[in-house]
Amino acid sequence: MKLPKIDVSGLKSFIPEQEIHALLEQTTEDKSQIREIIAKSLSKQRLEPKEMALLLNVHTPELRAEIKAGAKELKKLIYGNRIVLFAPLYVGNLCINDCSYCGFRRSNASQVRKTLSLQELEQEVRILENHGHKRLIMVYGEHPLYTPEFIAETVKKVYATKEGKGEIRRVNINAAPLDVEGFRTVKAAGIGTYQIFQETYHEPTYKSVHPSGLKANYLWRLYAFDRAFEAGIDDVGMGALIGLYDYRYEALSMLYHTIHLEEKFGVGPHTISFPRIEPAIGTDYANHPPYAPSDEDFMHMIACIRLSIPYTGMILTAREPVALRNEAISYGVSQIDAGSDIGVGAYALHNAADSAAKSQFVLSDNRSLDKVIGELCEAGFLPSFCTGCYRLGRTGEHFMEFAIPGFVKRFCTPNAILTLSEYVQDYASEDTKQKALQAIKRELEQMPESNPLKEKLLQKLVSVQKGERDLFF
Ligand code: SAM
Ligand code: SF4
Repeated sequence: MKLPKIDVSGLKSFIPEQEIHALLEQTTEDKSQIREIIAKSLSKQRLEPKEMALLLNVHTPELRAEIKAGAKELKKLIYGNRIVLFAPLYVGNLCINDCSYCGFRRSNASQVRKTLSLQELEQEVRILENHGHKRLIMVYGEHPLYTPEFIAETVKKVYATKEGKGEIRRVNINAAPLDVEGFRTVKAAGIGTYQIFQETYHEPTYKSVHPSGLKANYLWRLYAFDRAFEAGIDDVGMGALIGLYDYRYEALSMLYHTIHLEEKFGVGPHTISFPRIEPAIGTDYANHPPYAPSDEDFMHMIACIRLSIPYTGMILTAREPVALRNEAISYGVSQIDAGSDIGVGAYALHNAADSAAKSQFVLSDNRSLDKVIGELCEAGFLPSFCTGCYRLGRTGEHFMEFAIPGFVKRFCTPNAILTLSEYVQDYASEDTKQKALQAIKRELEQMPESNPLKEKLLQKLVSVQKGERDLFF
């Protein structure tokens, strides 16, 4: 039972607060300047803070529409119509921190505290596998019980749990910042992405919403990825909790954080998340976030992030309602969760009230995985459970898609088709099956006969039909 040894001596913030405020004062509604910035992004270059600030500061509907159109084009150009699916798995809601917005915070007496035993964890995993999931993000409060060794043990348990033809092939984690030794321990358990959100990059606001506990230390959190990289983890997921402070400040700060990682480690974040604060049981603050952006501003921010950091994956969770999620996918969101329940032990509970009392906040999109897959296929997207890059040591799947011309066509699309075909064989309802088969047909038709890969893919699809699993390029 130990907490990490916090040492921030010699560290200073790389988020230039005054500079960001100054940049956010600058505005232009000059079409040609905005078009130049969009064109730079479409030529696959990361934008500079000044350029991102100009995009964020656009207010006229016509120019905002051009920015969204640019984001759409970039998404199509680089990533195609695939969308990666995953599920969250909450392991424990014990927490020593007191984050004003979170249902898990220490002072919240309405929260029923629970940590899954390994048997209970196994039960959750079996249920998720029976739904067809292949990729999970495991989530933990911050508590002396949740040591790196505990996290590693739970991750290994998930990989070891197989149900019928089901298995989890990639486990990402969202857990409090560890020290370097701790990061080595969780890396050895085979985690995919290490995800952590700074919540707010605005230090005075950070201090006011994190009054006590380890999380009160802004720099310890800000340098979490540096320690993860030092421990050999190069696949990290960045994020800001939108609603604590000006969304434009948070978006720009994520760009500065990205530049810091690029300069120091030669690679930026694998994914970026921008969850909005949702209501949480017993948590007044979450019902009235001080800087909640309108849906329109939120979508504008998503398009600006897409254009500013074109190589990163973007995650939008079931916190958001269905229609907004669908629109955001077209602006470049590349990963969504589906069939999610975020109460600790919720997948086995099947009881909404019980689950809510052990939940961090309330979800808006409650569709099943099957329904989400059917609707995505119908809307022209290609749902994917692919874990090929991670399994073959090609870390940073989204970066590969971006950086290597033709990568999506050669690897991602065929692998998405193969994993969707597995889903059709093993888990789909009749309705979803028809929609998914249509989507597969559509994708195959778009592949020229001259493509030597097509033949191999068709052979692999026959093998999937015969019962082989986990085939990928
Ligand atoms: N306890 C660790 C931490 O705080 O980093 C890890 C996981 S925490 C359970 C996951 C994330 O949920 C937090 O980083 C925060 O951004 C988000 N979150 C907390 N309260 C929320 C709320 N009311 N609505 C939406 N997201 C929330
Ligand atoms: Fe604990 Fe994380 Fe919730 Fe803060 S956000 S109270 S650290 S679980």
